Amino acid sequence: MLILKDIHKEYPAGDTKVPALRGVSMAFRKSEFVSILGPSGCGKTTLLNIIGGLDQYTSGDLIINEKSTKDFKDADWDAYRNHSIGFVFQSYNLIPHQTVLSNVELALTISGVSKAERRRRAKEALEKVGLASEINKRPNQMSGGQMQRVAIARALVNNPEILLADEPTGALDSETSVQIMDLLSEIAKDRLVIMVTHNPELAETYSSRIIRMIDGKLISDSNPYEAAQPKEKKPTKKKEKRTRNRSMSFVTALSLSLNNLRTKKGRTLLTSFAGSIGIIGIALILSISNGVTNYINRVQEDTLSSYPITIQKETADMSAIISTMMNANAASEEARHDLDAVYSNRVMYDLLHSLSNVEVQKNNLHAFKKHIENTPAYKEYASTIKYSYAMDFHIFTKDKDGRIIKSDIEALMREMFAGANMGGASSESGMGSMSGMSGMSMFSSYDIWQEMLPGKDGEILSDLLYEQYDLVYGAWPKNYNEIVLIVDKNNEISDVVLYSLGLKTTEEMKEELRTATKDEFEVGMTEKWSYEDICNMTFKMILAPDLYQRNVDGTYTNLSESDAGLAFLYDSTKPIELKISGIIRPNDDAVASMMTGSIGYTSALTGYMIDHAAESAVVKEQLANPSLDILSGLPFKTENETVLSDAEKALMIKDYFAKLTVADKAALYTDIKSKMPKDMLEAATMQMLSQYSLEQLKAMAVQAYAEQMGITDTTEIEAYINAMSDEELQAAMKEGIAAQIAASYAENVRAQMAMQTADMLAMAFDAEPFTEAQYAEFFDLYMPASESDSTYEKNLFLLGYVDKDSPSAISIYAKSFENKDEISALIAEYNKGVSQNDKIEYTDYVALLMSSITLVINAISYVLIAFVSVSLVVSSIMIGIITYISVLERTKEIGILRAIGASKKDISRVFNAETAIVGFASGAIGIGVTLLLIMIANPILHAVTDIEILNASLPVLGGVILVILSIGLTLIAGLLPSRLAAKKDPVVALRTD
Ligand code: ADP
Ligand code: MG
Repeated sequence: MLILKDIHKEYPAGDTKVPALRGVSMAFRKSEFVSILGPSGCGKTTLLNIIGGLDQYTSGDLIINEKSTKDFKDADWDAYRNHSIGFVFQSYNLIPHQTVLSNVELALTISGVSKAERRRRAKEALEKVGLASEINKRPNQMSGGQMQRVAIARALVNNPEILLADEPTGALDSETSVQIMDLLSEIAKDRLVIMVTHNPELAETYSSRIIRMIDGKLISDSNPYEAAQPKEKKPTKKKEKRTRNRSMSFVTALSLSLNNLRTKKGRTLLTSFAGSIGIIGIALILSISNGVTNYINRVQEDTLSSYPITIQKETADMSAIISTMMNANAASEEARHDLDAVYSNRVMYDLLHSLSNVEVQKNNLHAFKKHIENTPAYKEYASTIKYSYAMDFHIFTKDKDGRIIKSDIEALMREMFAGANMGGASSESGMGSMSGMSGMSMFSSYDIWQEMLPGKDGEILSDLLYEQYDLVYGAWPKNYNEIVLIVDKNNEISDVVLYSLGLKTTEEMKEELRTATKDEFEVGMTEKWSYEDICNMTFKMILAPDLYQRNVDGTYTNLSESDAGLAFLYDSTKPIELKISGIIRPNDDAVASMMTGSIGYTSALTGYMIDHAAESAVVKEQLANPSLDILSGLPFKTENETVLSDAEKALMIKDYFAKLTVADKAALYTDIKSKMPKDMLEAATMQMLSQYSLEQLKAMAVQAYAEQMGITDTTEIEAYINAMSDEELQAAMKEGIAAQIAASYAENVRAQMAMQTADMLAMAFDAEPFTEAQYAEFFDLYMPASESDSTYEKNLFLLGYVDKDSPSAISIYAKSFENKDEISALIAEYNKGVSQNDKIEYTDYVALLMSSITLVINAISYVLIAFVSVSLVVSSIMIGIITYISVLERTKEIGILRAIGASKKDISRVFNAETAIVGFASGAIGIGVTLLLIMIANPILHAVTDIEILNASLPVLGGVILVILSIGLTLIAGLLPSRLAAKKDPVVALRTD
């Protein structure tokens, strides 16, 4: 059944070849106990390895079951070793990290026998060798004889036809040797046992056949066997094929490696930890950027409520300016010149250029409002859509001295900065009209009164308000005449608000300003008011149409322009009384709070104002007369303004003069006469100048300058004057002298004319032959207006009339950041479909701000990930090296596994399993440590940033992916070492110690 035909085996040794077997031919019986004797190095082990299929012969043939092995593949050899051969070695070759039972089970494990069957057969084999009670011990807890018996049990567990034993008693004492020999001869009863030994007595005593070898050749055979020659071609191939091994399952490989790793817990832990560092890095970055992203989302939500998409009737696109300013310090992509000197970079130019290119764009909100109302998508993406209308508020209260003040800071500012030529100071007529009309007032950002965002479905307030504000006292407004006071996080309101509330007088404010500039302000001086006192305050809102009182001649007077009129209005029944229903304060969680003002009123109040105005008589009258300013009774200016000639002007002014009363004529005549004619003034001035010597002029100039500047020491001024040329000096003095002459002339004329009666003066006026040019001049000076300087629109605004279809601004409050983008897309879509004039333009400040922030965060993340990737690669390489060391360490085990039938694939699988375990451990440790670090980091983050809702957190999916990544990377790192292990020659592997 087993025939060796002229087997030669040569080992390569450098350039030459070492012959180990030189033509061995013999046959074995199905069952006999063969002993091979021979001196060391004669080729006994080589012969045994070739018979066992562990090593391949160089030439000749090995015939197994009448079949040549010349074209055996690796898999055939693996199956042959696994099913037909049992190996017993001198040094036992047990796997130290496996129990006795597992060691015995191993051969069955490799051939894929079920677990229960494995157990049963392994126990049976161990029973046979007398070790039934030791199955859970580890090899290193046993004696040599016991270990050799375990090895025999392992060799027998597959019930092989051939047992090969290489000096099985070589390391045992004689007593134990006898026991082992007994066991082997017992086994040899029903199978072929081939044993190599050095001990001729044992061979003589136990074996049935003794073969002696010297120098790779047989020299004697005590009981030769002539087997029948095999037929050349065997038809019974099929059955052989069937016995091929199934591969070791991955689970087996895992448990094998797991057991190995268990014996080296410390090292495995260290390896895994080293491997986990990269994972920790990535997981931390992932957690932090996840936390920051969450935070940004929250910020976006809150910010969106403060900065909705607002489309103004008149708008300027500021994004170009903002981006210019943002890029001011950043160098452009490429230098346009050599880097050999310092060059200029035109930041100022760019800024001014973009500023000058800002176009004020008019948005057609009438059409756009219709579009919004006809497009349901807007309602879907927006939590609220707010329409604002240009309206002036006339809210008054009494300050603590009992004076009626307008509840805003316009009047205060005007007084504080009187003379500083501030915007408000110039608008003498129609005060307050500027701020509301254009929204461009200097102090519009100090708006004290602010409308609160209405809720959905007609609710008076938006949920966002309840989310962002805590009610400190009282109740939220329920009616149009209820308002709230908004305090800051420290329950404070600013002094300008105090003024508007009437809690501080103008004098007090001025005093504070004075002390502030002189650095005398007492620190810690705080004033306070109880919640009750605040809520007891009343405000009176006079609706715009009620300001105007109709005069007998049909014109109207704005009563609020005079103190008496205002007092009358204030005490009348017309104003709406506004009550503070509660006090609110932004809560701690709010990232941004939407109210910038200090007193919040509801949209119901606005609605009331609009309705009231629409129904008032004065508004109806104005609406009925679009070309007439009903307030002044004058027609509005027409579009095509005619330029009057001097003759026409003269005609008209003569007509006007003719209708004047005597007294008026006298006054007018005095006025005209008291103006010195220009040529006369010029001549008088020149004459005066020529009268003074240069020295005198200089002295006069010094005195004038000193007086103007309030300086007594004139040395510096003198030096200045002396440096002037004569022409410069004369020019400087001429104007002053002319003014003096004109003034004294006017004084003289008035004094003279005052001595005449009005009748005389009127007659003289009528008789005076003025030239046409003079009349034209009078026309410009004295002709009363025949046209109103107001416009139809301005009048309607003054009267508080609002066309509900034409808002002055539309604010769209998006539900989320994504929704905001959707809304932007909707607007872009709308713009595509309308004419150039109807296109909507607005500045998306939030997007401008947020995009740069997310850009920065992304950039930082990328840099960090790059760093971490490097550490990941480094730790992968380390895992590879450690796996390689493990391969070196487990070389013997590889040999054993191969000897009992493991294929190359199985071996690499074992090592892959090991790296996978290490990779998993790395990943798991990495995630665990990260979670721990996050727990430590979050409180620190809160302490440093003061942001409660900024929480680093590892997303679950990210964690899972990182573990998989870790396994994948270590697998790749271990691939090479495991290939190396698989390629190891089992014979060489077994020879290593
Ligand atoms: P024995 O078991 O009888 O002591 P071996 O079969 O181990 O002898 O060795 C036979 C000869 O082959 C020896 O000279 C040995 O040095 C050589 N030999 C065995 N294995 C190898 C090998 N892997 N490479 C090179 N030479 C080897
Ligand atoms: Mg040997």
